[in-house]
Amino acid sequence: MENHLFVGGVVSFTTLDYPGCLSVVIFLQGCSWRCVYCHNRHLQSVLPEESLPWEDIINLLKTREGLVEAVVFSGGEPLLQENLLDAIMYVRDMKFKIGLHTSGAFPSRFAKVLPFVDWVGFDVKHRFENYQEITNIRNSGALARESLNLLIASGVDFEVRMTLYEKIETSAIIEALKEISALGVRTVALQKCRDKKENVVEHPIFSDKLLLEDVSKYFDNFYVR
Ligand code: SF4
Repeated sequence: MENHLFVGGVVSFTTLDYPGCLSVVIFLQGCSWRCVYCHNRHLQSVLPEESLPWEDIINLLKTREGLVEAVVFSGGEPLLQENLLDAIMYVRDMKFKIGLHTSGAFPSRFAKVLPFVDWVGFDVKHRFENYQEITNIRNSGALARESLNLLIASGVDFEVRMTLYEKIETSAIIEALKEISALGVRTVALQKCRDKKENVVEHPIFSDKLLLEDVSKYFDNFYVR
């Protein structure tokens, strides 16, 4: 691959980032959003001088052939990088399945890579109309909704992950879940937020088992992490 990809880190062996598959996770630098709870702030900027060489990533993947099934592109926001599609094609040629973690910030780029992706972990952050409260970016909710619609229409296997910021009203979370269920989302994982010191800051909804049971009925698969 001639063009550079800016890589902030790699996890060489995990069971957590692509359901049912052992995978390598490649964390790409750069994100255009500024979420209040972001845990990868060190990946928000593209810093070429700190990027791991792509050749090193490929050499690592060669040592994983036959040991792991999938390579997951995560971030930051992987679709920020224009060379993501080339990287995906390169890794597919090595016979790995492709996973992608995205917030949906770049619908047109997402549409181009979707035919070559096997599984997507898609972040939903709030009701789409309230996205700016989390991302600090105007219009981010419209972009995320457009990307989610593309994903649903594509038929690619996916899971929606929703990290529950403690300041979101429970009623807004319920509305967000109803909204994505109506769009056609069938698998959802609710995730607990962490503060800057990595302590869990649990949203009150996690203690309301009856409510969780109720909202789980909107989906075929519903997880709490
Ligand atoms: S989209 Fe993800 S990487 Fe970007 S600021 Fe939000 S939480 Fe951080």
